Amino acid sequence: MLRIIDLSILIQTNMPNFSVLPKVKINKIRSIEKEGDEVRTIFMPSHVGTHIDAPSHQVAGGARIDELPIEKFLGNAIILNYPNKNNCDNTLISLKELERYKNKINENDIIVINTGSYKNPGSFDKFGYISQEAAKFFVDKKISLLAVDSPSVDLNVPEGKKMPVHQIILGAGIPIIEGLTNLDKIKEERFFFIGLPINIKDSDAVPCRAIAIEGLTI
Ligand SMILES: [Zn+2]
Repeated sequence: MLRIIDLSILIQTNMPNFSVLPKVKINKIRSIEKEGDEVRTIFMPSHVGTHIDAPSHQVAGGARIDELPIEKFLGNAIILNYPNKNNCDNTLISLKELERYKNKINENDIIVINTGSYKNPGSFDKFGYISQEAAKFFVDKKISLLAVDSPSVDLNVPEGKKMPVHQIILGAGIPIIEGLTNLDKIKEERFFFIGLPINIKDSDAVPCRAIAIEGLTI
């Protein structure tokens, strides 16, 4: 039997996000009572909630959202569980901690990392993230996509400085999904993952609806 788990954060006006980015604003501009139909405008930064980072977010000349093959965003996935990495300072996932998954990760896998950070959705300065060595390990494994529950795979990089983990992953042409939620609802280690980007021209990132499907293998 298939079990579908929604891994996406609800997008709403004034939702928490990085302080350097403008707030989400969703406004009703037509109503059934007045105009006969209901319509909204949606204003949001490209990085908000559960979203995909394209290589062009950090790498000059890197692929943009609309240039990435759709195949990258769905496929067989494995969850790596580090649920106690949330809401702490400097709690990176090291290469040593990845050791136990070393032989379980296949080429083209989608990697989902549970750091427990999704339990603190308003925390944008304390969350689990990964080390540069761990990032290189994923590149060497030729994964298809890296998806995490943290708002970023890098922690507290000062404005104007390059983000080293983003650089390694995106530099290898691997997109990143940040801001997954509900990861405790995933019961199987392997499952089918779908997190499709809305196709926006030239975009460096875009919110997505990410789901896990248990009981489906292809
Ligand atoms: Zn992002």
